[in-house]
Parts: sequence; C-alpha cells; structure tokens
Amino acid sequence: MTEKHDLKSLASSINAVASPFRSYLNELYEKYESLNDGTVADYIPELALAKPDWFGICIVTVDGQVFDVGNCDQLFTIQSISKAFIYGLALEDNGREYVNSKVSVEPTGEAFNSIVLDEKTNRPYNPMVNAGAIATTDLIKGNGATERLKRILDMFRRYTGRELNINVPVFLSEKTTGNRNRAMAYLMLNFGMVSDRIDETLDLYFQQCSIMVNAQDLAMMAATLANGGVNPVTGERAIDERYVQDVISVMLTCGMYDASGEWTYNVGMPAKSGVGGGITAVALGKLGIGVFSPPLDEKGNSLRGIKVCSDISRDFGLHLFNVAKSEKNLQEWIEGGNSLDNW
Ligand code: GLU
Repeated sequence: MTEKHDLKSLASSINAVASPFRSYLNELYEKYESLNDGTVADYIPELALAKPDWFGICIVTVDGQVFDVGNCDQLFTIQSISKAFIYGLALEDNGREYVNSKVSVEPTGEAFNSIVLDEKTNRPYNPMVNAGAIATTDLIKGNGATERLKRILDMFRRYTGRELNINVPVFLSEKTTGNRNRAMAYLMLNFGMVSDRIDETLDLYFQQCSIMVNAQDLAMMAATLANGGVNPVTGERAIDERYVQDVISVMLTCGMYDASGEWTYNVGMPAKSGVGGGITAVALGKLGIGVFSPPLDEKGNSLRGIKVCSDISRDFGLHLFNVAKSEKNLQEWIEGGNSLDNW
C-alpha cells in the first residue's frame, strides 16, 4: 500500500507498545504457554511438521492498533478459516438468493468432512463444512482457474493488507489425499448443486486451504469484518458491507466445527478455526483476534486458541450477548497508555 498507510501502521504499533493491554496479552501468553494438551494435525505429513509450542496472539482494533505477542510472524496454512471469507466472495459474486439456493446456513453438529446433504433440497448444510465450502468455491467467478485463484488471493490481500502465497507442498498433498472431498463434489454434481468443472473447483478449494497466513493476518481479517468490511490499517474495503452480516452470522453458528454451540455459549464471538492451528474471532465494532497454536482438541480447534479467546471474551465482556459489567473496560485498557508521552 502507500507510504501513508505504512506510516499509519507503524504509528499504531508504537502506540500499541505502550498500552496496558499489551501487558494483559503477555500475561495471557504466559498463562497458556505451558499448556501441553492436544495434537497437531497429521492427516498430511506437511501439517505434522508444525511445532506444538508455536503460539502467537494478535489483536487488531477497528482503529488500526496492532498488539501482538509470541509467534505472530510464523506462517501456517489457513485451512478451513478460508471458508468464511470465500463465502463472502461467493455472496458478492452471485447475491444472497442464488448462494442460498446452493448452500444452506444450518449447523450440522457433525464433523466438518461428513458426506451429508440436506435430504429435501440437496444443499450442503452450511459454507463452513467441506461440502458447503466446495459448493461456495464453485460459485467464485472468473475466466478459468488462474483468474479465479487470482480473485481469491486478491480478496485475501484486501483483508490482510499484504500479498499472500500458497504453500505448494501442502496444496499437492491435499490434492493427492483429498478423495473424500472429491466424493462430496461428485455427490453434489449428481444433484446439480455444483457445476461440472469439478477438478478446477477442487484445485481451487485445496489451494485456498493452503494459503499461508500468520496470526497477525488472522487478526487483521477479523478486524476488517469487525470494522464493517474495511481493513482498519489500509483503509481498503475487503467485502461489500451488505454481506458482512451474512459471513459473521455463519461464523457464529458454524465456525468452530461441531463445537460451535459450545463456543457461542462460552465465548460468543463469530469465529472460524482451521486445522493448521489458527482461529480468527470478531468482536463487532471493536477488534479482531488472531491466535495461532497448532495442537488441536478432538473437534479440530486450537486448544490454546480456545482458552485465549475465552479469557479475552470474559475479561472484556466481548460475548455478543453479554449484558453484565465486565471485569475490565476494553477502551480504558487499550487507551491507558496510548500516547507517546506515556511510552
Ligand atoms: N483442507 C482440509 C480438508 O479439506 C480442511 C481442514 C480444516 O478443516 O481446516 O480436509
């Protein structure tokens, strides 16, 4: 982006250094650093290379302040987190009515890779399970595979504020081992729910899962949604504001695999996780959270990620339906040291 935006980002990072919120995040990091439960995903060899002690927490506020602690530069594959954002692009490309005719918005309570379609309408249940995500990827417009991929990468660039790349070995592994996803795609083709460019769409799906991000990218993406679709640092719009509501609604009801109900009950923030160990969570009108820690619980969600988001939500009253006074006032904690004089 322009020099002005770089300077703005630098200034906000300097301000963020001074805030008591930074000390809060440091403490949170220390609290969960030694948590040793969970297992790193190993369904393909590349993911099993992740170190269990990698841990990064990043917060980006809707006014563009960045707070980070731990391994926030470490790249990992976005995996299923891509699904929420691809859904947004599919809505922009096709409108709500058409997308709804192809993909429902009903939580399944089942594993993300279950081969199940709605019996009456033949639609996949929601865009966050694999079947629904393949159907939404099919809806991404463009003249051929290269242009469609370019549009997808460009969308992620708008959210993160930087160019992203695909991890080719992960993509190739996903493609080689992805027969279950292939089966879903053919089942949907059988019912006329996806177009017949199956190989192209599956490649795109595997590529979108293999995009490399870091915790700061995830925080920036969530902050962009929290900010009504405009990246708070670059000022660029990433998604038409009409569709932000749709994306975050589905994140709230279906974003955390088959633990989405429990997540909404305990944490109450629209979020999406991926088996790479990332979680992106949205506090609407306030901030975005990005957490990275590869060890997963049995449902596929980052264990440290869940703990961190639960604590932040509870301490600052960020649960969507919170009406009680929170222990800490977010504004005060963020602004407490937010001036170079105090630094
Ligand atoms: N690439 C994975 C798959 O299609 C998605 C894994 C995830 O849920 O993060 O199986």
